Amino acid sequence: MGFLLNCLPGGGPSTSHPEWRADLFASLAAGVLTCNYPGGRHLSPFLEDLAIMGLLRRLFGRKEAAPVAVTPPSPTPSIAPPPAPSSSKPPTARDVDWRSSEIHLLLLSRFLDARPPDRVPEYFAQALGESPAATVQWLLDRGLLVPASLPATVAFWNSVADLKALLKERGLKVGGKKQELVKRLLDADETGMRKRHQTERIVECSLEARERVTQYLADKKREDNKMISAALAAIRAGDFAAASQLVSAHEAKQLTFEVENPLALPSPPRETEADVNAIQKIFTLRPKILSQMSERDWSALHVAQALSHLLHGRFSEEWLPPDFVGVTKFPADVARRMLYFHFLHVERVEKYRAAGVTEGKVLCGAPNQGTCPECMELDGKTFTLDKAPELPYERCTCELGCRCCLTAVISF
Ligand SMILES: [Zn+2]
Repeated sequence: MGFLLNCLPGGGPSTSHPEWRADLFASLAAGVLTCNYPGGRHLSPFLEDLAIMGLLRRLFGRKEAAPVAVTPPSPTPSIAPPPAPSSSKPPTARDVDWRSSEIHLLLLSRFLDARPPDRVPEYFAQALGESPAATVQWLLDRGLLVPASLPATVAFWNSVADLKALLKERGLKVGGKKQELVKRLLDADETGMRKRHQTERIVECSLEARERVTQYLADKKREDNKMISAALAAIRAGDFAAASQLVSAHEAKQLTFEVENPLALPSPPRETEADVNAIQKIFTLRPKILSQMSERDWSALHVAQALSHLLHGRFSEEWLPPDFVGVTKFPADVARRMLYFHFLHVERVEKYRAAGVTEGKVLCGAPNQGTCPECMELDGKTFTLDKAPELPYERCTCELGCRCCLTAVISF
């Protein structure tokens, strides 16, 4: 029998739910993995958050990325000039025009806000043709990344609580915003703070890099907005195939990364027919939890959720008309999520049936995680698939919407 791993991105019962975890372990033990989260490749960022990831890594033998080498810090970070570029190096993958290289611009964009030079994920390596550490060093050598100022360094490495403690130690006032705390601390003890952070360097884009990266991101945003408007128009006009193709064409132009993760099952290639079927289904769904909604809002919500489906769960309230009302108990975003959860629920039940599963157990999180009493009444109950309540649960009063999820009851 197939094993069904239920992963609701940002939804479903809390991933710390003991039964959810037991399910996962039992399923891992069974050794058959079927992921029913659309866009399987995107499973990893979600699962990364799980405390059990450590165990999963061991189970699958995932290797941790090697630590990135960082050059020793400059003693006076804020004023040290960048070293002269070396011209004797043999040409490498990084000898490209950084101004027109997307991967270099993307890497630089991570440093619009100051951060340590080793905070570039290893998965950049493939597109860079070398380790991210080597590229970062090259950008530092070229002066495109520069050491951040002392105030930025202090602000980066200290939380507000840390800053307050440091101020208190020095008999200074502890009130104000973070920037004010940093300034007060530096005004009083610049030498001490410089010493405290002399081995912890952070870097940021140079003015030149910042200008080009900002322009690049603005161009990307414009292109993205154009695609969104065209796809929304196509969906509203009922041309779901055109919407799917617009999204496909846009995605094909994007830089993609191969992220090594044993849990990330490759998503099947986008198929217009599957997209059209999914959107047609979305348009038929009206979960009872949203039953107060007006006819006009249903149509707007279906359109927004259809696009969200094409974009792997991405959503913006801007896709809804400005006068969207929805339902009184939820904000528009939650209403949209309830439609999405209902779609997942319907799909899930179909998959259970196809896999020969006949019973499902409702899992709803816990009262201390904001689950309402109505949902808690369902928690842990087993139903035959025919008798299972519609999810999201129509009587749910959870502030963030119902997170109940029907998991398959499987006997091994
Ligand atoms: Zn609830």
